[in-house]
Amino acid sequence: MSHLYRMLIDGELVPGTETFDVVNPATGASLAPCPKADAAMLERAVAAARAALPAWSAMAMADRAALIDRLSDALEARASEFASLLTAEQGKPLDQAMYEVMGSVFTLRAFAAMRVEPKVLRDEGGNRVVEHRTPLGVVAAITPWNFPLILLMNKLGPALLTGNTLISKPAPTTPLTTLLFGELAQAILPRGVLNILCDQNELGPRLTAHPDIAKVAFTGSTATGKKVMASGADTVKRVTLELGGNDAAIVLDDVDPRRIAHRIYQGAMTNAGQICVAIKRAYVPAPMYDDFCDELATLARQAIVDDGSKQGTTIGPIQNKMQFDKVKALVEDARQRGTVLAGGEPLDRPGYFMPPTIVRDLDDDAPLVREEQFGPVLPVLKYDEIDDVIARANAGEYGLGGSVWGKDLTRATDVAMKIDSGTVWVNQHLAIDASIPFRGVKQSGLGAELGEAGLLEYTQAHIVNSVELQDA
Ligand code: NAD
Repeated sequence: MSHLYRMLIDGELVPGTETFDVVNPATGASLAPCPKADAAMLERAVAAARAALPAWSAMAMADRAALIDRLSDALEARASEFASLLTAEQGKPLDQAMYEVMGSVFTLRAFAAMRVEPKVLRDEGGNRVVEHRTPLGVVAAITPWNFPLILLMNKLGPALLTGNTLISKPAPTTPLTTLLFGELAQAILPRGVLNILCDQNELGPRLTAHPDIAKVAFTGSTATGKKVMASGADTVKRVTLELGGNDAAIVLDDVDPRRIAHRIYQGAMTNAGQICVAIKRAYVPAPMYDDFCDELATLARQAIVDDGSKQGTTIGPIQNKMQFDKVKALVEDARQRGTVLAGGEPLDRPGYFMPPTIVRDLDDDAPLVREEQFGPVLPVLKYDEIDDVIARANAGEYGLGGSVWGKDLTRATDVAMKIDSGTVWVNQHLAIDASIPFRGVKQSGLGAELGEAGLLEYTQAHIVNSVELQDA
């Protein structure tokens, strides 16, 4: 691959002051050099985004929407190329990469179809009060490495539609699809409206503290999210934080374990488990525990673990070495405390491959149960009483997603109501789309992404309260 990747600053595609290697996680080999921005480039990007604001925010929303639609069309026209690149830098199987690319296309279209209208709050006796929604200014979108493209679109769509300008900073291990998207955007958006900067984790703190950045839209770990919040405090920045999760799936006693197990498996293993809302622990009633564990183990053994670019691969590598080492350590610890039924040994080949791993007989205080593993490893836990399992699901600082599985929908929904998470699914998991707001509670996040609530996060209320002048 000899493509020359460049950043986007003030409408120009620019090289970095230096480059660093982006690694293909399926081989461990270098994929492409990535340009790196220094502090001066960051200042240029912020200045360009500020300079673009007056004209961009003055445009009619429908005109901005038309440009977002054009971005969506341009992405769709090159979907295969984006999907291949996404697999190469992120590791996910090609069909899942295509799903992310097309999800990005639909997300942009969904936001382009939304509108924010002024709201008349009062209109009586000559007193008219109208709430307008105005843009915030320059937004920094900081994204992680698990879904580099769609997590940017979740921010870019609403930010640009509502008249803000944007600085995108992808994760250092997955910057290439973002840079390729910048090439599309350069031909479509006015200069300065979108700027893309790459780093090796140095620019985040500068962006989040910068006085000319009005809002930080962040997706990543809870530990970094806390730093983002602290760093923005000095200038009272708006922040939305989409952070980590430790989703529990609770299986009720009226289901056929063999029918439900494959759906729990998919919820845990898609994208090699590297999803903020992947199923990260499964709670199963004692009488069906053995059958359920065995079924999950069978599914895990059937997985085709390989380079995501190979036809038929169902699980690709873990995205980077640091995460690979973390997952390996969690599995080693779990082996001492419980029973590894399937997987558990990294593949003896280059790249960062951990086969799908099913662990049973752990206590809730095992690190694999308490922490966010963010990898293809699922602990399966036994329960006797429903109230007890609800309390166990709600333990811990996370509150992102979760699911309840049961034939009796009323009972399953009743349990779902008691799970302390931003989203709880019933008889499904990972059902996310651009029209439904997504948010974490507790330490899983702050503010909403997607849906009308997510759109309004990029605006501020501007109240105009007028009365008629009475002639004296
Ligand atoms: P991370 O927090 O390490 O990095 C995320 C981004 O923050 C990267 O672009 C990184 O360069 C940048 N960054 C690093 N230090 C920074 C700082 N001090 N200030 C500002 N930015 C900084 O996260 P990750 O390891 O890339 O992603 C995995 C995590 O993301 C998991 O915890 C996962 O659950 C979470 N995640 C959450 C959601 C969600 O919507 N809730 C979605 C996907 C991933």
